[in-house]
Amino acid sequence: MRTILPLAAVLSLLAPAVPGAQTGPASGPRPPNIVLIVADDLGYGDLGVYGHPTIKTPRLDRLAAEGVKLTSYYAAEPVCSASRFSLLTGRYSVRAGITGALMPGSRTGIAAAETTLAEVLKAAGYRTGIVGKWHLGDRPGHLPTEHGFDSYFGLLYSNDMIPPWVQTDVPLRLYRGLRPLDGEVDNSALTGRYTAEALSFIRDNQAAPFFLYLAHSMPHVPLGVPASIAGRSAGGRYGDVIEMLDWSTGEVLDELARSGLERETLVIFTSDNGPWMEMPARMFADSRIVPTDAGSAGPLRGSKATSWEGGTRVPFLARWPGRIPAGSVSSELVTGLDVLPTVAAAAGGRLPARAAIDGVDVRAVLEGKGPSPRDSFVYFSSGSARPEGIRDTRWKLRLTFPEQGAPVEALYDLSLDPAERFDVLRDHPDIAGRLRERLRQFAASLSR
Ligand code: MG
Repeated sequence: MRTILPLAAVLSLLAPAVPGAQTGPASGPRPPNIVLIVADDLGYGDLGVYGHPTIKTPRLDRLAAEGVKLTSYYAAEPVCSASRFSLLTGRYSVRAGITGALMPGSRTGIAAAETTLAEVLKAAGYRTGIVGKWHLGDRPGHLPTEHGFDSYFGLLYSNDMIPPWVQTDVPLRLYRGLRPLDGEVDNSALTGRYTAEALSFIRDNQAAPFFLYLAHSMPHVPLGVPASIAGRSAGGRYGDVIEMLDWSTGEVLDELARSGLERETLVIFTSDNGPWMEMPARMFADSRIVPTDAGSAGPLRGSKATSWEGGTRVPFLARWPGRIPAGSVSSELVTGLDVLPTVAAAAGGRLPARAAIDGVDVRAVLEGKGPSPRDSFVYFSSGSARPEGIRDTRWKLRLTFPEQGAPVEALYDLSLDPAERFDVLRDHPDIAGRLRERLRQFAASLSR
């Protein structure tokens, strides 16, 4: 008897082979909804489930208990625009010349030639919406609805990009689609407004699978919560903001439950980079921002903008009932680069047909079925196109660049020493040599 393959299987056999593009349709009649929640500058140590002693995050803790918590997840870059570029394209942002945080009116932004996760999912039949911070360009050609999103509500860049913190004449505005809304932005209302928009998007888009990218502006300074919330957290103003993000996540999860979509939805919660602990003097130009408005990298060294672990290693929680085992914890290496290929695979979407996708499909990690296919990660600092380090499954080679002379190397055993306290390069020159060569190969790939 002849076996007749379903049309989708035939098409997948005919698909061109793309490196790392092992996509396939998810089981079941409909691919999962995707809810990707990204906090801004939230550090590794800021959630209850990651050990914060005073900030309470019961909904996020429960999300972890119902899914997987990663302890070696890296936002691909230690700063907003670069990190978001990598998250949405699966590519190191240096490949596209985006290395820092884009300023208002920047001529740089995400190029038309890039393929975003939203475009991948839209092509697979998804409704796509972004609520919150975009930060991949605020000029025509760079806007979210020009890069795969059906709808947009939010800020085009950071909430501090107004005087006195940033010298700009461009007023900060909320946008709906391509239209700026009137009136000054009230920071204290942002999380609530984003949450309401996210719930509306879920309610209004249930006829097809949907992709909701909820990119909070908080806890990026200047912090804000409604007066009714202020002072509730034992963790102070920063704690209030994190606890409101916890509330917001709970609202989204409750809406999914009310809509009967809990089991058909992959929910991810993460951050774009580590806490902004080393704020420049300009951030304290008036009394609205104080040093304790920053979060914590927990046991990790360093913070936002740096190539220390605290710059990019951040929380990552994922829930997909029936697919991701509840209550699992993994220290396998996963990065923001991997979100696009992983989600595309879960959705049965097709990866962009270009060679320089740096991400890999890590469903095996999330589902507890195997080790991470990722065997290295390259570190940058903010605003720099020069790689500053590389890690493999255990070791990290980190470079610093003095004003003159050759770079200075240090080697850390991240299994024993995630805080990067002990340079063991002299004990392991062979390991350092291997990582040096891999970094050289990576750098060479940038010029191809
Ligand atoms: Mg950020």
